[in-house]
Amino acid sequence: MTPDVRNALAYCPNLPTLPGVAVRILEMGRDPDVNIGVLAGLLAKDPALSSRMLRVCNSPLYAQRRTTTNLHQAVMLLGLNSTMTMALSFTLSDLYRASNGRQRYLQRVWKRAVVSALASRMLGERIGLGSLDELYLAALLQDLGILALYAALPERYAPLIEQYDSHDAFLKLERDTLGCDHGEAGAWLMRHWGVPERLAMTAVAVHDPDDSTLDAEQKRFIHPIAVAGQLAEFVLSDGGEGAMEAVVRSANDWLGLGPDAVEVLVEGILIALPELGGVFDLEVLSAEMAAGLIDQAREILATRNLRLIHQAAEHHQRVIEMEQAAELLQKAAIHDALTGLHNRRHFDQVLDVEFALAIDNAWPLTLGFIDLDHFKQVNDTQGHVVGDTVLVKVAGVLKKNLRERDHIMRYGGEEFVVLLPGHGVEAALKVFERLRTAVEETLHAGESGARFRITTSIGLASHMDGEHRFDEPLDLVRAADRSLYDAKRSGRNQVVVAS
Ligand code: GH3
Ligand code: MG
Ligand code: MG
Repeated sequence: MTPDVRNALAYCPNLPTLPGVAVRILEMGRDPDVNIGVLAGLLAKDPALSSRMLRVCNSPLYAQRRTTTNLHQAVMLLGLNSTMTMALSFTLSDLYRASNGRQRYLQRVWKRAVVSALASRMLGERIGLGSLDELYLAALLQDLGILALYAALPERYAPLIEQYDSHDAFLKLERDTLGCDHGEAGAWLMRHWGVPERLAMTAVAVHDPDDSTLDAEQKRFIHPIAVAGQLAEFVLSDGGEGAMEAVVRSANDWLGLGPDAVEVLVEGILIALPELGGVFDLEVLSAEMAAGLIDQAREILATRNLRLIHQAAEHHQRVIEMEQAAELLQKAAIHDALTGLHNRRHFDQVLDVEFALAIDNAWPLTLGFIDLDHFKQVNDTQGHVVGDTVLVKVAGVLKKNLRERDHIMRYGGEEFVVLLPGHGVEAALKVFERLRTAVEETLHAGESGARFRITTSIGLASHMDGEHRFDEPLDLVRAADRSLYDAKRSGRNQVVVAS
């Protein structure tokens, strides 16, 4: 809190004060040996308070089975904590009512406190918290600082109060204008009154429920009150969609409650609200308005649900598209774009695998390099487009003349590589002769429509075939490459086996 605001509070002659009864009640709250009979006696001295206590006790809020007209009995039925909570809340109600002049604006603040108090209690009950009366009272007191600041700084604060619309916007306005907010002022006043620390610190903590200085126990207490505050905004904003969205999100994050649980709770809270307003002589919401808000909440939640389903479907579709794109990329990475055959990268992987398989299974493996003869001339005389067509066609012819189990890849340029697992030199020679002949017999169309043929030179090397074996896959490749070189040197259009 800034020093000027603190001084204004400390020296304010007309700060809201607690009536004697309330002060005594607070003292009793601090006394571990408090006697409930003494409390009843104390309340009895204040006729207005006692009649309200009886009314509450007999209201559906406390759902007593029988009506009581006896204050002592009422106090016994309510229990110590609830009696103190009720008595203090009436005192607070009076303080809001007494804040002369700006009642119209403060009424919204008080309504928010009442709705939050009820909602805190019901949320706390839903998540199994024990201290429901404390929750209720903490929520009810959370905006007490607004009364305090209004009393201490009437000239500076009145223009702010008149702008009160939503709680969070007001909080920002306070911080921007005063350099502090009503949470700090409220906590200060509560400590000044001797209100239990847990309630006092709530006024500050509820404005930052994820504050890292709060311990787990404190967060368990603050979180339902924070969610309840958002629920109050939903009620006071006449069922705003954004407010409900905030409720659903924080109920999930802070309380672990899903949208279905929220719907049930909102309904319960809205049904109980008109009755609670009656207890405080405050028209928070008529029963009809509550029913309308319940419908609105249901509709918002249902629409939200549909939107989520739609988003999930869209997300699913995007995932599928991304998977498809990834698959395409992966395919592209190991395929040659022109011929559609596997590429060199794939060859390197396959070679390692087949080389090892041949050793493990003691079966032969033959590797053949196939290089088109004088292919440069095709490009030079027919152009690159025809050259490409020739490459595609030759690739097709080669593939068609191989088994499923064999591998063919475009090694680069006009050079192909074939791996024949299970084939020794003898068997492989037959296959490569067949390939050579098939290519030679294929007719290609030139630019002018003239037909031409192209031949290939092929170099072979075999691994695990009798005496032929290599230490490394690369040695097999080198041997086949040398055979290809020999085939070229010996006149091309022939198959040469490594010696
Ligand atoms: P040799 O019989 O000695 O193999 O002669 P060659 O002309 O086939 O060999 P060289 O290595 O001199 O030329 C290969 C040519 O293949 C040169 C290059 O432009 C062409 N080439 C490589 N890749 C492609 C391609 O994708 N498309 C086309 N159209 N031509 C290609
Ligand atoms: Mg060539
Ligand atoms: Mg070449």
